[in-house]
Amino acid sequence: MSLACPGYDVAMSERQIRLYGDPVLREALPPVGDIDAGVARLAQDMLETMYGAPGLGLAANQIGVRKRLFVFDIGDGPQAIINPSISESRGEWTYEEGCLSVPGLSWPIVRPKEVHLTGLDLDGGEISVEADELLARVFQHEVDHLDGVLLLERLDADTRREALRTLRERSMSAGEASSRRSGARSNLSKA
Ligand SMILES: [Zn+2]
Repeated sequence: MSLACPGYDVAMSERQIRLYGDPVLREALPPVGDIDAGVARLAQDMLETMYGAPGLGLAANQIGVRKRLFVFDIGDGPQAIINPSISESRGEWTYEEGCLSVPGLSWPIVRPKEVHLTGLDLDGGEISVEADELLARVFQHEVDHLDGVLLLERLDADTRREALRTLRERSMSAGEASSRRSGARSNLSKA
């Protein structure tokens, strides 16, 4: 696997996922300048972390890195998008959405059904994708992360209040969390 990357330990390049409450998740990330080997390795680490979670997408600040890129795989293979931007959105679609940085919780969230996303690939080539439904959802969720926005901000006021209460109670009982953190496996979309 990552044998060509000296300096990485036995855990390979899977990194720790930052959780709700970590300030790096509230930061708007600066664009990537040079797309060099370091960026390629970062994308590889992000993919391994995403698959290990498992999730459908992962933004750089979810592993504490301040660079504007995300990775995803909704079943068509892994891909990294650098300096992404959503230029158009249309329609409405409700989808049960979760987040690897807010583990164990999910909500039906309404967002645009279709988006047009542009950015760069790891070779610096331009990407331009018309995305619908699940792919469009992952794109919106990840671009939100890169803007420092969590899915909690996409909830209606009542649901958000309830979610924040749950998260507060959870952090107060964090000491006992390790005994119940595995929870039920679910097939919800987490990114
Ligand atoms: Zn997320």
